[in-house]
Amino acid sequence: MTSPDPLVRTRLRVEQDVFAVRQLGREVGRLVGLEPRDQIRLATALSEVGRLLVATGRETEVVFAAGSDGVPALTVKLEHTAHGDADRLAAQLAQVGRLVDSMEVRDGEIGTVVRMSRRLPPNAPVLSPDRMDDIRAELAGHVPGTPLDELAVQNQQLIATLDEVRAQRDDLARLNAELEETNRGVMALYHQLSDELEETNRGVVALYNELDEKSVQLRAASEAKSRFLANVSHELRAPVTAIIGLGRLLSDDASDPLTPEQDRQVELIRGSAADLLSLVNDLLDLAKAEAGRLEPNWSDVDLKAVFGQLRGTLRPLATRPEVDFVVEEPAVARLRSDEVLLAQVLRNLLTNAIKFTAEGSVRLAATRVGDEIEFTVTDTGAGIPPELQERIFEEFYQVPGSHALSGKGTGLGLPYARRLVGILGGALRVSSEPGQGSTFTVSLPVSP
Ligand code: ADP
Repeated sequence: MTSPDPLVRTRLRVEQDVFAVRQLGREVGRLVGLEPRDQIRLATALSEVGRLLVATGRETEVVFAAGSDGVPALTVKLEHTAHGDADRLAAQLAQVGRLVDSMEVRDGEIGTVVRMSRRLPPNAPVLSPDRMDDIRAELAGHVPGTPLDELAVQNQQLIATLDEVRAQRDDLARLNAELEETNRGVMALYHQLSDELEETNRGVVALYNELDEKSVQLRAASEAKSRFLANVSHELRAPVTAIIGLGRLLSDDASDPLTPEQDRQVELIRGSAADLLSLVNDLLDLAKAEAGRLEPNWSDVDLKAVFGQLRGTLRPLATRPEVDFVVEEPAVARLRSDEVLLAQVLRNLLTNAIKFTAEGSVRLAATRVGDEIEFTVTDTGAGIPPELQERIFEEFYQVPGSHALSGKGTGLGLPYARRLVGILGGALRVSSEPGQGSTFTVSLPVSP
């Protein structure tokens, strides 16, 4: 800390000196660069302290100094010779202290000391030793005015301050008006937004109601379709079975012999009726699965046995010598599932793979992947174009031209297989490269 450099000293003896100190304070403030309002504050604080000290009847020494304790400041020390006055003075000066940055009252060596300071503004001129000397010289030539002069100055200051207060009050009123207007704007915007939000909400609610209604209608339509399919296919089964039986009777050795032409025609009737029966059976299966009437019969499935059975029943279908039919050993021994439904799905996929593969291989495998068991049926057949890989799961859809190898089909096998896998709690997906082959993957949870 740089101890403050004294600028000027004076004494307080009689009341008149209070005016002189007040004037001097303002003058020192001006010279060190205090702003006009701060000069008035300092002068007012000085005259209040001076008034109280003069009332004690003792002489007071007043020292003005400037220095820097981090920030440059003007300090004034007032010291008078009465001891033990500090507490009373401090209480009396509590309000006055607010006019300056710091005000301290304490008992010093010779008597009571009041010390106050006010920081200089950042734009105040630097107080170099030369500048300090100049200020000292100017203060030495300072002639104190009469109390009347001081009264005039105070009046002017009062008028200026009142003007300033009025201007500030006007500013405040204007700001308040602006604020009120902004508030009104904000409220209007808020109302508009909440109206819009309410309208949007009403729209969304209406949309949801419509959606609910539509999905009820959809469900009803889908149930009606399943019921229709189930009934029609059920009703068709009996007459078609009868046609097949009658055809068999006609061409039976025990019946009257037919002419070769009649025999050929009866064979045609029997073949068509057999196709129709398989379509009707497929439709009935699908309708049952869709109507949710298929309840899985959960048990511990021995995968080795299932694979063995598939190997045995499908090998006769894989008649092309150019195609290797491989059923690998399952990497997982057991699975909780419905054995009949699972075997039906795998048989369906393997039959397709055999149907659509001219050369290479058809392969069935089972591996464990995380919490699932993945069954893959991989072939090196015709493959399916990417844009049709979801369509083949639609009822009756067949990839155009894909039956060149295999004869007819119904287009119901994959939608049915996907339904069954869904009922078993899993998923059926395909990946395929036209010309390279396809892989159908059935993922089933280890614990459904
Ligand atoms: P279907 O075999 O009776 O025609 P699916 O529903 O089983 O009916 O199959 C639908 C269509 O998907 C088939 O007609 C065929 O075009 C295509 N597809 C199915 N599996 C394969 C496969 N492994 N390779 C190539 N195309 C296939």
